[in-house]
Amino acid sequence: MSQSPELPDPSFTPIDRDLLAALDADEEGMLEAADAIYTNRDLDLAHIKAVGFDMDYTLAIYRKQPMEQLQYDLTLERLVGGAGYPDEIRTLKYDPTFIVRGLILDKRNGHLIKMDTHGRVARVFHGRRRLNEEEIRANYRNAKIRLSSTTFASVDTLFSMPEACLYANLVEFFEARRNDGKPLAPVELPAQPDVQLFGGINTWKLFDDVRNAIDDIHRDGTLKNIIMADLASYFVVDPGLPLTLHKLRSAGKKLFLLTNSYWIYTHAVMTHLLAGQQREYASWRQYFDAVIVGGRKPRFFTERDPFLEVAPVETSEQVIGEVNAERFERGRVYQGGNIEAFERMAQAQGEEILYVGDHIFGDILRSKKDSRWRTCLIVEELADEVKGSLTGSEMIEQITALDDRRHAIDDLLGQRRALLDRMETSLGLGNGLAPEFKPRLEDAAKRLRKEIDVAKRVLRALDREAFEIGDRLDKHFNVWWGRLLKSNNELSRFGAQVELYADTYTSKVSNLLRYSPVHFFRAPRELMSHDVAISKRGAKR
Ligand code: IMP
Ligand code: MG
Repeated sequence: MSQSPELPDPSFTPIDRDLLAALDADEEGMLEAADAIYTNRDLDLAHIKAVGFDMDYTLAIYRKQPMEQLQYDLTLERLVGGAGYPDEIRTLKYDPTFIVRGLILDKRNGHLIKMDTHGRVARVFHGRRRLNEEEIRANYRNAKIRLSSTTFASVDTLFSMPEACLYANLVEFFEARRNDGKPLAPVELPAQPDVQLFGGINTWKLFDDVRNAIDDIHRDGTLKNIIMADLASYFVVDPGLPLTLHKLRSAGKKLFLLTNSYWIYTHAVMTHLLAGQQREYASWRQYFDAVIVGGRKPRFFTERDPFLEVAPVETSEQVIGEVNAERFERGRVYQGGNIEAFERMAQAQGEEILYVGDHIFGDILRSKKDSRWRTCLIVEELADEVKGSLTGSEMIEQITALDDRRHAIDDLLGQRRALLDRMETSLGLGNGLAPEFKPRLEDAAKRLRKEIDVAKRVLRALDREAFEIGDRLDKHFNVWWGRLLKSNNELSRFGAQVELYADTYTSKVSNLLRYSPVHFFRAPRELMSHDVAISKRGAKR
């Protein structure tokens, strides 16, 4: 590689260790890999005028176990108390390891599915039973999964974990009942079903019942009243959060909150997370130039609902009236609204706005498809995923080396087979072949056939080895589903969505604290298959 001799390499004087420790920084200015911000598309923070934040699972980090358990328990109770489900379902246990983001739920079959980036079905569970390859082929071989169809629901947010686990538990529960000849109410098969169902129980209704129950507990205050009565049990308070917001403000960025939660809950949670942490900010609202609750994303990005103003009174959701102002005013609380009015009132537009959210569909995909907002996706699980890659690095190296070997053998086999083909054709036709070549060619072809057989055997053995290591590696991440962002050698559907829609992604908001407010997030150069092949050849020369 040529270098420009006239440009000196920049050099920096080392900083004293105790100074770095006082700053909670290390020599590189950063970074544990688990706390890094990763970039899919170049993003220059210097060009960002306004930074917006979602609340739930973005600014507000829930404690996984108690939060999911609470939703699970309340939903179960709702099913027993309000939807005619038998008492015995109360014995079904929540398993926080069983559901990961990005899964698809198939209502006709009662299945949970992990798909890869090409829409191929990679893994399927029915209840807790994993389907084998043959069963997967029988179910999904021909029909391409149309995710827009009502047959499928996706597990998009961390709010969906308990619901998907409960669904799987109930599928298993009712199937056991069916096998025991017990009554299946309220999910017996309908006499004249609207849709074809593939198990012996009405897995579609089961889904609707679970969905409605969990929707109710979110909407009618059951869940939120319990959380608000004991905020410390349900939220992680991150001391880096107020510092992060303060730092962005000090750099001249306008900050806004855009959450789907409504005022009372937002106020309670944000007070718990931010109040009294920094002397300059008496109330959490002072961190933000605009506070928008009940934002109804993704609608916010697609429709033209008006902004309403809400009275900032602790115990009421009272709407004062529709907003006709030209600008947002600090200290006021807005509800609803839409992106067009927002950009006008915030005096920032498109690529000047960075939105940080956790919901791939509501926060990230829509803002990307319907606007030019820049995005940062919060993937809480990334911290574990990155740690898993570090602790599993030996297996990852083994599998990479095996893959390289398999590809090299495959390439060689391809070439040699083509050569053998030509030899056999030539021997068969015999035309133009000098007589003294014939026996030599026969010998060479015979040897080649043997060598090809050996290579095929080696390849099969390597395939088995790679499969075994791959299986161990998957279990190292999650025993049920493997890696979150990968599916074998491909990206998982979730990984592909992250890559496609999120300009940047990271495990938590306060990771921003480790970067300057004018940081240039640079994406790795994208390579296509032919680029990789050419650069490998180049390296061999
Ligand atoms: P955000 O992430 O701050 O935009 O808001 C998430 C809000 O959506 C929270 O208030 C949740 O309670 C609410 N939410 C999450 N799942 C459901 C649901 O299934 N039904 C109704 N509300 C939900
Ligand atoms: Mg959220």
